[in-house]
Amino acid sequence: MLDLILPLECGGCGAPSTKWCDSCAATLKVHTDEPHLVTPRIDPGVPVFALGRYAGPRRQAIVALKEHGRRDLVAPLARALALGIHQLETWGILDTPFTIVPAPTRALAARSRGGDPVLRIANEATRQNQTITVIRALKTRAMVRDSVGLAVADRERNLNGRIKITKQVAGDVLLVDDIVTTGATAREAVRTLRESGVNVTAVLTLAHA
Ligand SMILES: [Zn+2]
Repeated sequence: MLDLILPLECGGCGAPSTKWCDSCAATLKVHTDEPHLVTPRIDPGVPVFALGRYAGPRRQAIVALKEHGRRDLVAPLARALALGIHQLETWGILDTPFTIVPAPTRALAARSRGGDPVLRIANEATRQNQTITVIRALKTRAMVRDSVGLAVADRERNLNGRIKITKQVAGDVLLVDDIVTTGATAREAVRTLRESGVNVTAVLTLAHA
């Protein structure tokens, strides 16, 4: 059914006749030293890990899912996230049981793009894992502008006090987002979670810009 609506092309490179080609799949491979620790300009106060750079097929896949409704790309991105989570567990950074809280998406943006892609990816990544719960616990308040195109200081000001708790979470939390750029969203989300008494262990993103 989807094929009738969407042209069948790779969500990473546009190659015909496949939704996700082997060479794009290879770029999402999680190597033994990944996810990498990154240092965004605004420090969220917990370690931030990213599965790769926001470039190439990784970037194309994230954009295709978020902006063009390519939900078939949830699976490969979720697989990379699952491998990244497993790695953090192996390294002793995450200890099960814990809860994944997706970073908040602007409600309107998420609606117009057909649901919250980070939530979908997190759900898919942990579907088989009984020790990890995914709770959409954060929401941005109204009036937060989409941060695309805002300078670092403006992004921070834009988000100050603008993320709120919508569901109470207990225990350890891993904050998951698609992209970390300045770190402004991560910092505000971590701050909000901590104020509610949650222990945020780390931030894990699909990509860092
Ligand atoms: Zn491809």
